Amino acid sequence: MKSYSDPIFPAAPRTTAEFRFYEELNDFLAPRLRKTAFALGIDRGRSVKDAIESAGVPHTQVDLILVDGVSVGFGHVLRGGERVAVYPVFERLDIAPLQHLRPAPLRNPRFIIDTHLGKLARHLRLAGFDGLWRNDYADEEIVRLAVSEQRIVLTRDRDLLKRRAVERGHFVRATDADVQLAEVICAFQLEGMLRPFSRCRECNVALVDADKAEVGERLPERVREFYNRFRRCPGCGRIYWEGTHYKRLQRMLALALPGKSKMRSE
Ligand SMILES: [Zn+2]
Repeated sequence: MKSYSDPIFPAAPRTTAEFRFYEELNDFLAPRLRKTAFALGIDRGRSVKDAIESAGVPHTQVDLILVDGVSVGFGHVLRGGERVAVYPVFERLDIAPLQHLRPAPLRNPRFIIDTHLGKLARHLRLAGFDGLWRNDYADEEIVRLAVSEQRIVLTRDRDLLKRRAVERGHFVRATDADVQLAEVICAFQLEGMLRPFSRCRECNVALVDADKAEVGERLPERVREFYNRFRRCPGCGRIYWEGTHYKRLQRMLALALPGKSKMRSE
């Protein structure tokens, strides 16, 4: 009996390349693939970016890819048999001569925050960062705002970070909002950019100075007694002073960034 085979398009064995992921990129891999080299199936003409994402790692978390020791871009096509090393964003290592895949850091980092991270959004605003957030964003809206306003996407949805249009993003690992704030500050090296008391935690609008005389009537008596500096949100009218929220933020930062937090109120 003759078995069927197509003489023109024989079923080629699937090609593989050897991958190894470094540092926190391992968090995205299946446990058996972590911190070890493994063979990853690659289709003909497949880009190294597609191969990396097929292993579960969003491209936004990758800063450097070495194929057989040479740094390549995301579009590099694998042919099979290569050794591929994939690195996350290096924070303070000098690897300048190599081809970085991340765009240069933004001078004034701005964020767009996924629906399930409302507490983190408020914490970031409290620390002074521009963070758009709504509890009903569709993924498409998040991607659109990230692109049009050059915002960094913060999410715990790795599929969102795999969207082609998303250039800057961070997969938030922590589940506690206080820890998430510290995680984002560390990930984007924002320690020197904290501006507490400068932005409304509810509507993300920049605060303006307010005279004690002007806002005094609306303040609880103890606040009127103990505080002299006030700021007002032109959006919602809330009054801010260096009270409870400010102290809580200081505690969060002190716990998470010992010796690093340089809070400067404006
Ligand atoms: Zn407001």
